[in-house]
Amino acid sequence: MVFSELSNRRTGEQGHTRMRKPQTGCYLLHYTRPLASGKGYTKHYLGMARDLNKRIDKHRRGTSGAALPMAFHTNGITFRIGRKWVTDTIKEAYLLERQLKARKNSPQLCMICRRNKRRRIKRRKENK
Ligand SMILES: [Zn+2]
Repeated sequence: MVFSELSNRRTGEQGHTRMRKPQTGCYLLHYTRPLASGKGYTKHYLGMARDLNKRIDKHRRGTSGAALPMAFHTNGITFRIGRKWVTDTIKEAYLLERQLKARKNSPQLCMICRRNKRRRIKRRKENK
């Protein structure tokens, strides 16, 4: 895998295993449940990376080094990708991460939570 990526880089994306261009930006992980019940426990993790897929893969394996995702992993709690924001540069990713974190409202940013919320509202209307 690593070899084919390197060789493709040299040959300029020739061959059947085309090298994917790393996507830089921010990502939001949506975990199936919080680490513990009660106030102050989140089930989201917001981060930034030069290579989003590589970074998210590390979270999935529990080798990212980031404390919260490692704790989720240790407890066997899996995640889905709640959202990705692709930026042109790492600096933009950094600034975007700061903006997003400042909002302190991950469920509002998370497409999985937003979809679930819409479904709940729809169900409530149908039950009336
Ligand atoms: Zn979510």
